[in-house]
Amino acid sequence: MELWFTEHHTPNVRFSIKVDRQLYSGRSEFQRIDIFDSKEFGRFLTLDGYMMLTEMDEFIYHEMITHVPMCVNPDAHDILVIGGGDGGTVRELLRYPTVRHIDLVEIDELVVEVCKKYLPQTAGCLSDPRISIHYEDGLKYVRHAENAYDLIIVDSTDPFGPGEGLFTKEFYGNCYKALREDGIMVNQHESPFYQQDAYAMQRAHKRIVDSFPISRVYQAHIPTYPSGHWLFGFASKKRHPVKDVNWVRWNALGLKTRYYNTQLHAGAFALPNYVEEMLRDV
Ligand code: SAM
Repeated sequence: MELWFTEHHTPNVRFSIKVDRQLYSGRSEFQRIDIFDSKEFGRFLTLDGYMMLTEMDEFIYHEMITHVPMCVNPDAHDILVIGGGDGGTVRELLRYPTVRHIDLVEIDELVVEVCKKYLPQTAGCLSDPRISIHYEDGLKYVRHAENAYDLIIVDSTDPFGPGEGLFTKEFYGNCYKALREDGIMVNQHESPFYQQDAYAMQRAHKRIVDSFPISRVYQAHIPTYPSGHWLFGFASKKRHPVKDVNWVRWNALGLKTRYYNTQLHAGAFALPNYVEEMLRDV
């Protein structure tokens, strides 16, 4: 009998991947965790039935959430990653010799354990001495941080369940306080395409605009996320995401990437008209 993983992208749209084998299924205090293996996308992680990452396309998400802010400030030394227990974001950050320390705040220890066992492609770096892992709610963690980070990356689940607090005004205000004077915050910003996702995206954008003097949105194409059209938020105290980048310096690092490059960086901030309108109307 054929086994398929199916995610409802709207009540009327489903996305399915044929599964070769289910490698893990378990439940933590926070969510259900599943790992599947497939021909087209390799191994993939789902939480409460929602796609988190696949081995085939995770490079797009993790490169775009990391290299965009790191190109704007290649001197980011102290970094906070909230969520991201699969390790993909941290893997990309560790490629910079300038990164001194990363605090990874993941609410669910079981996600980290399961990813270490089944997804070494992303979680293989999680024992690096430059990382401290804190098993805590990111919303609570940032309440006590002040002037401590050059960069905060919010690599969260969607704005419901355990991730809900990471889309609130309180959270963004505390991220602002936790950043140093030229700090940057980047977050996964949902999809603009389906109406329900777009509403959540607009609401989060408004809260970020109210919390930071500079706030822009950029995009990437991620095949396994709803509609394939995904957004990221860039917010900062001083640095502009396109005018303040040092292409020459980033290119001199010689990092080999599969999706990100410095021409694409500028282009990713050029949004389709319907998305610009949504962001203007918040
Ligand atoms: N790239 C993914 C996506 O957008 O679909 C996100 C992947 S990552 C696995 C998301 C992580 O955020 C999960 O492991 C989840 O446990 C964690 N998370 C959710 N809410 C959190 C919270 N309040 N504090 C810290 N981590 C949280």
